[in-house]
Amino acid sequence: MTFGSEASDVDFGKLAATFGTPLYVYDADALTWQYQGLRESLHPSLEIFFSLKSNPNVSVCAVLHALGARAEVSSLTELLTALRAGVDPDNIIFLGPGKSRAEISACLAEGVHAIVCESFGELGRINEMALDRGQVARVALRVNPAFAVKGSRLTMGGRPRQFGIDEAELLARPDLGEEYPGVRLTGIHVYMGTRILDENVVVENTRRILDLAERLSARIGFPLEMVDIGGGLGVAYFDGERDLDVRALTEQLNPVIEKFHAAHPNTRMIMELGRYLSAPAGVYLAQVLYTKESMGEHFAITDGGTHHHMAAVGTGSFVKRNFPIRLLNRPTTDATEPWQVTGPLCTPNDTLGKNVPLPALRPGDLIGVLRSGAYGPTASPVQFLSHGYPAEVLIWEGSAHLVRERDRPEDLLGRQRLHPALSPEAGGRAMASDVRPAPA
Ligand SMILES: *Cc1c(COP(=O)(O)O)cnc(C)c1O
Repeated sequence: MTFGSEASDVDFGKLAATFGTPLYVYDADALTWQYQGLRESLHPSLEIFFSLKSNPNVSVCAVLHALGARAEVSSLTELLTALRAGVDPDNIIFLGPGKSRAEISACLAEGVHAIVCESFGELGRINEMALDRGQVARVALRVNPAFAVKGSRLTMGGRPRQFGIDEAELLARPDLGEEYPGVRLTGIHVYMGTRILDENVVVENTRRILDLAERLSARIGFPLEMVDIGGGLGVAYFDGERDLDVRALTEQLNPVIEKFHAAHPNTRMIMELGRYLSAPAGVYLAQVLYTKESMGEHFAITDGGTHHHMAAVGTGSFVKRNFPIRLLNRPTTDATEPWQVTGPLCTPNDTLGKNVPLPALRPGDLIGVLRSGAYGPTASPVQFLSHGYPAEVLIWEGSAHLVRERDRPEDLLGRQRLHPALSPEAGGRAMASDVRPAPA
């Protein structure tokens, strides 16, 4: 069960030999399985938008687009990625608390479905920029709700946040719609948090968000063309966690959606999902370089680590919890002892797994960190120790394609400039000799 929930017959040894390690491997079948599993049970009027933040690889985005997913983006490059993957601008929304002029300008030029606005300052800027272009911008308001629902790993509502506009502030501005002639308010967006593994929390969030959307649109007086209920659906990573039960979720959620849909048949309803779609479809593949013992513990030092997979290292949490880790080149060998699976970085934090039960390891073994398709390299310090970005491969219709090249030293060094006066050919050498201690 390497990818998704189906047995996988991927030959990781061949992938390592062909593409080198460390390597991210994404499986289109697993993306499909995860997407369709939800899509087939979910109320048809609730559209699924893929949050590119979780995995911005253009081929991953294209697989999900081919399945019917739309796109939620938060930077200029993410917008360009979604467009390149073939997503129609009317199926793209752009959010984020600090949109630049270039980003707003691109949203207006491309005609995205909605710019999700997160502050009054931004609303003013969108208004100005739209008027300059002779356009009326379609804007959804991101709301920081007064309520919070417990059960997500990062709770958004009910506290001061840089995201969205406070519910109370919006309720106090009934004339908001008329104040910005370059803006047409079209909807409401609320994101309540991430890594939710409790079906009831998703349902309760949705219920409250839909209620809030109705109250705000009535108060401010704009028709609800769209409501984005966020999402934040999680996947199980650690011992003691379980995946969401899609049937239990949709049995409760669909009636809530149906009720709103019946009352607002022309409102687009959006759920934005990152991790839920992409995490199960990715494996981080690293190769054991050396094994050794230190004070009675077994260490496997691999070529992969924190710089590519910060999430597996688990910084921020007090107790390190392991992602699912497997020996992939000898998958049927029984685990016999606990291993510290570490990386090449010169910091003790560079530990992919602590006390991982594995067979006796040897150099050349292939270690897979499963469920790694979300918040992998793009959410990691890939430049640390100047290692650079790993290669990424997509398995599509049974064969593996390179979908991102590994950074080479010349790629990393090519971005730097050696100050001419410090180059060995110029004054640098003279300066250095000035401070060199005299030979004894
Ligand atoms: C990060 C983020 C997402 C994606 O979150 P997941 O937990 O990966 O699904 C969606 N919407 C907003 C506003 C976000 O900040």
